[in-house]
Amino acid sequence: MSTVIKGARILGGEAADILVEDGVITAIGADLSGEETVDAAGLIALPGLVDLHTHLREPGREDAETVRTGTQAAARGGFTCVFAMANTEPVADTAGVVEQVWRLGREHGYADVQPIGAVTVGLEGERLSELGAMADSAAQVRVFSDDGKCVSDAVLMRRALEYVKAFDGVIAQHAQEPRLTEGAQMNEGPLSGELGLTGWPAVAEEAIIARDVLLAEHVGSRLHVCHLSTRGSVEIVRWAKSRGIDVTAEVTPHHLLLDDELVRSYDPIFKVNPPLRSKDDVLAVREGLADGTIDIVATDHAPHPMEDKECEWGAAAFGMIGLETALSIVQQTMVDTGALSWERVAEVMSATPARIGRVAHHGRPLAVGEPAHVVLYDPAATRTIEPADTASLSRNTPYAGRELPGRVVATFLAGKATVLDGHLVEGIGQ
Ligand SMILES: [Zn+2]
Repeated sequence: MSTVIKGARILGGEAADILVEDGVITAIGADLSGEETVDAAGLIALPGLVDLHTHLREPGREDAETVRTGTQAAARGGFTCVFAMANTEPVADTAGVVEQVWRLGREHGYADVQPIGAVTVGLEGERLSELGAMADSAAQVRVFSDDGKCVSDAVLMRRALEYVKAFDGVIAQHAQEPRLTEGAQMNEGPLSGELGLTGWPAVAEEAIIARDVLLAEHVGSRLHVCHLSTRGSVEIVRWAKSRGIDVTAEVTPHHLLLDDELVRSYDPIFKVNPPLRSKDDVLAVREGLADGTIDIVATDHAPHPMEDKECEWGAAAFGMIGLETALSIVQQTMVDTGALSWERVAEVMSATPARIGRVAHHGRPLAVGEPAHVVLYDPAATRTIEPADTASLSRNTPYAGRELPGRVVATFLAGKATVLDGHLVEGIGQ
C-alpha cells in the first residue's frame, strides 16, 4: 500500500511530495507517485502532534469521554499520540489499569495512547504507587503524575523523583500548593476581589515549582512542570535551566490566549485549573515559549459533561476541552505574531513532548525512513468554533463562537489516514 502526499510545504518550507509505503516515509521529492494520492497543495505538513497532557476519562467517566472519542478528537486536532492522565476511576496507579488504558488505545484508538501512571496510590498523596511495576508493564510508563492534584508532600516528591531515575522516568507535577488554594475559584488579583470569588494566588503555583526544581537538582532527577501559567513560574524555570537543572515545562493553548477578564461573565466555561491569569501572565508564557524556557504546548484536554459545567461558578468543574483547537490557538498566538516558526511548532507540539515522554516512534522528523505520522494543515483557512462540532463526548470548549485561524485537513497515523478532508475516517479500531 503506497500513498503520495502531493505538494505539501514541509514545516512551512518548499512544496514537495511525500511517498508513504507500509507506514514509513520512503521518498521525499518532486513528481512522486503512489497507489493513492492526497492533494496537499497549499497545506503545511508537520509531524503528527504529540500531547503530553490529555484526560481521556476512561475507565470510569465514559459519559465525559472514552479512549475512542478522545483519540478521535485528537486525530481531528492533528495529534497521533496522546498521553492519558491517571485521574480515572479507578486511578491509573497499578500495572493493571495502565495496561487496560494502553490496550484500549491499541484496539480502539485513532491515535496512539501512552498511559501516565499516578505518583501516589489513589492520587491521595500518601503512599507511592507501584511506579516500577507500571514502568515494567506492557504500557512501559515513563511519565508519572497525580495531575488534578499536587504531590504536595516534599518527602513523597523527593522519593518519587529518586525512584523514577532507575528507568529514566519523569515526574509531571501539577503545581498547586493545597493550603494556599483552599476554595480557590479564580486568579487572585483585583478582579477576584471585585467579583467576590476566592483568589488563587500565583505563589501557590510558583512555590511548588521552586521547591520541585530544587528537589530535582538535589536528587539529580528529571522534573516536568504541567500547565505553567504565571510570569513568576516562567522566571523560576528559566533560573532552574540556567543552573543546569533537568526541568521541562508545558503551557496550555488556553493560557496562551485567554485571561482572567473572561471570568467577569461568571460563565463556568472559563473555569479551569490552573485558572486563567492576567494579561501580563499571558504575555510572559508566550515569551517563555518563544525563548525555549517553556518546552512544549500540551492541551490539558479536560472533558466534562454539560451538567458539571452548566451550573453556578462555584459548583462547576474545572477544565476545558482543547485537542481540536490547539494548533489553531498556537497559530494565532505564536505563529501569526511572529514568535514561532512552523519548524519550532513541530518541536513544541511533537518532537519535544515525545522526547520528554520517552516515546521513540513519535515526534520524529518528516524524513525518509521515519514513521509516517503526518498532519496536513491549512493555515489560511478560518473557522468559527461550534461546540457541537467535535468528536469529543463533551462540549466544554471556551472558544464557542470565536473565529480561529487554520484547519487540520488530514492526519496520518503510521501512514494510515485517521482524518481526511477534515473528517474522521470511519472504521478505524472498531
Ligand atoms: Zn493539572
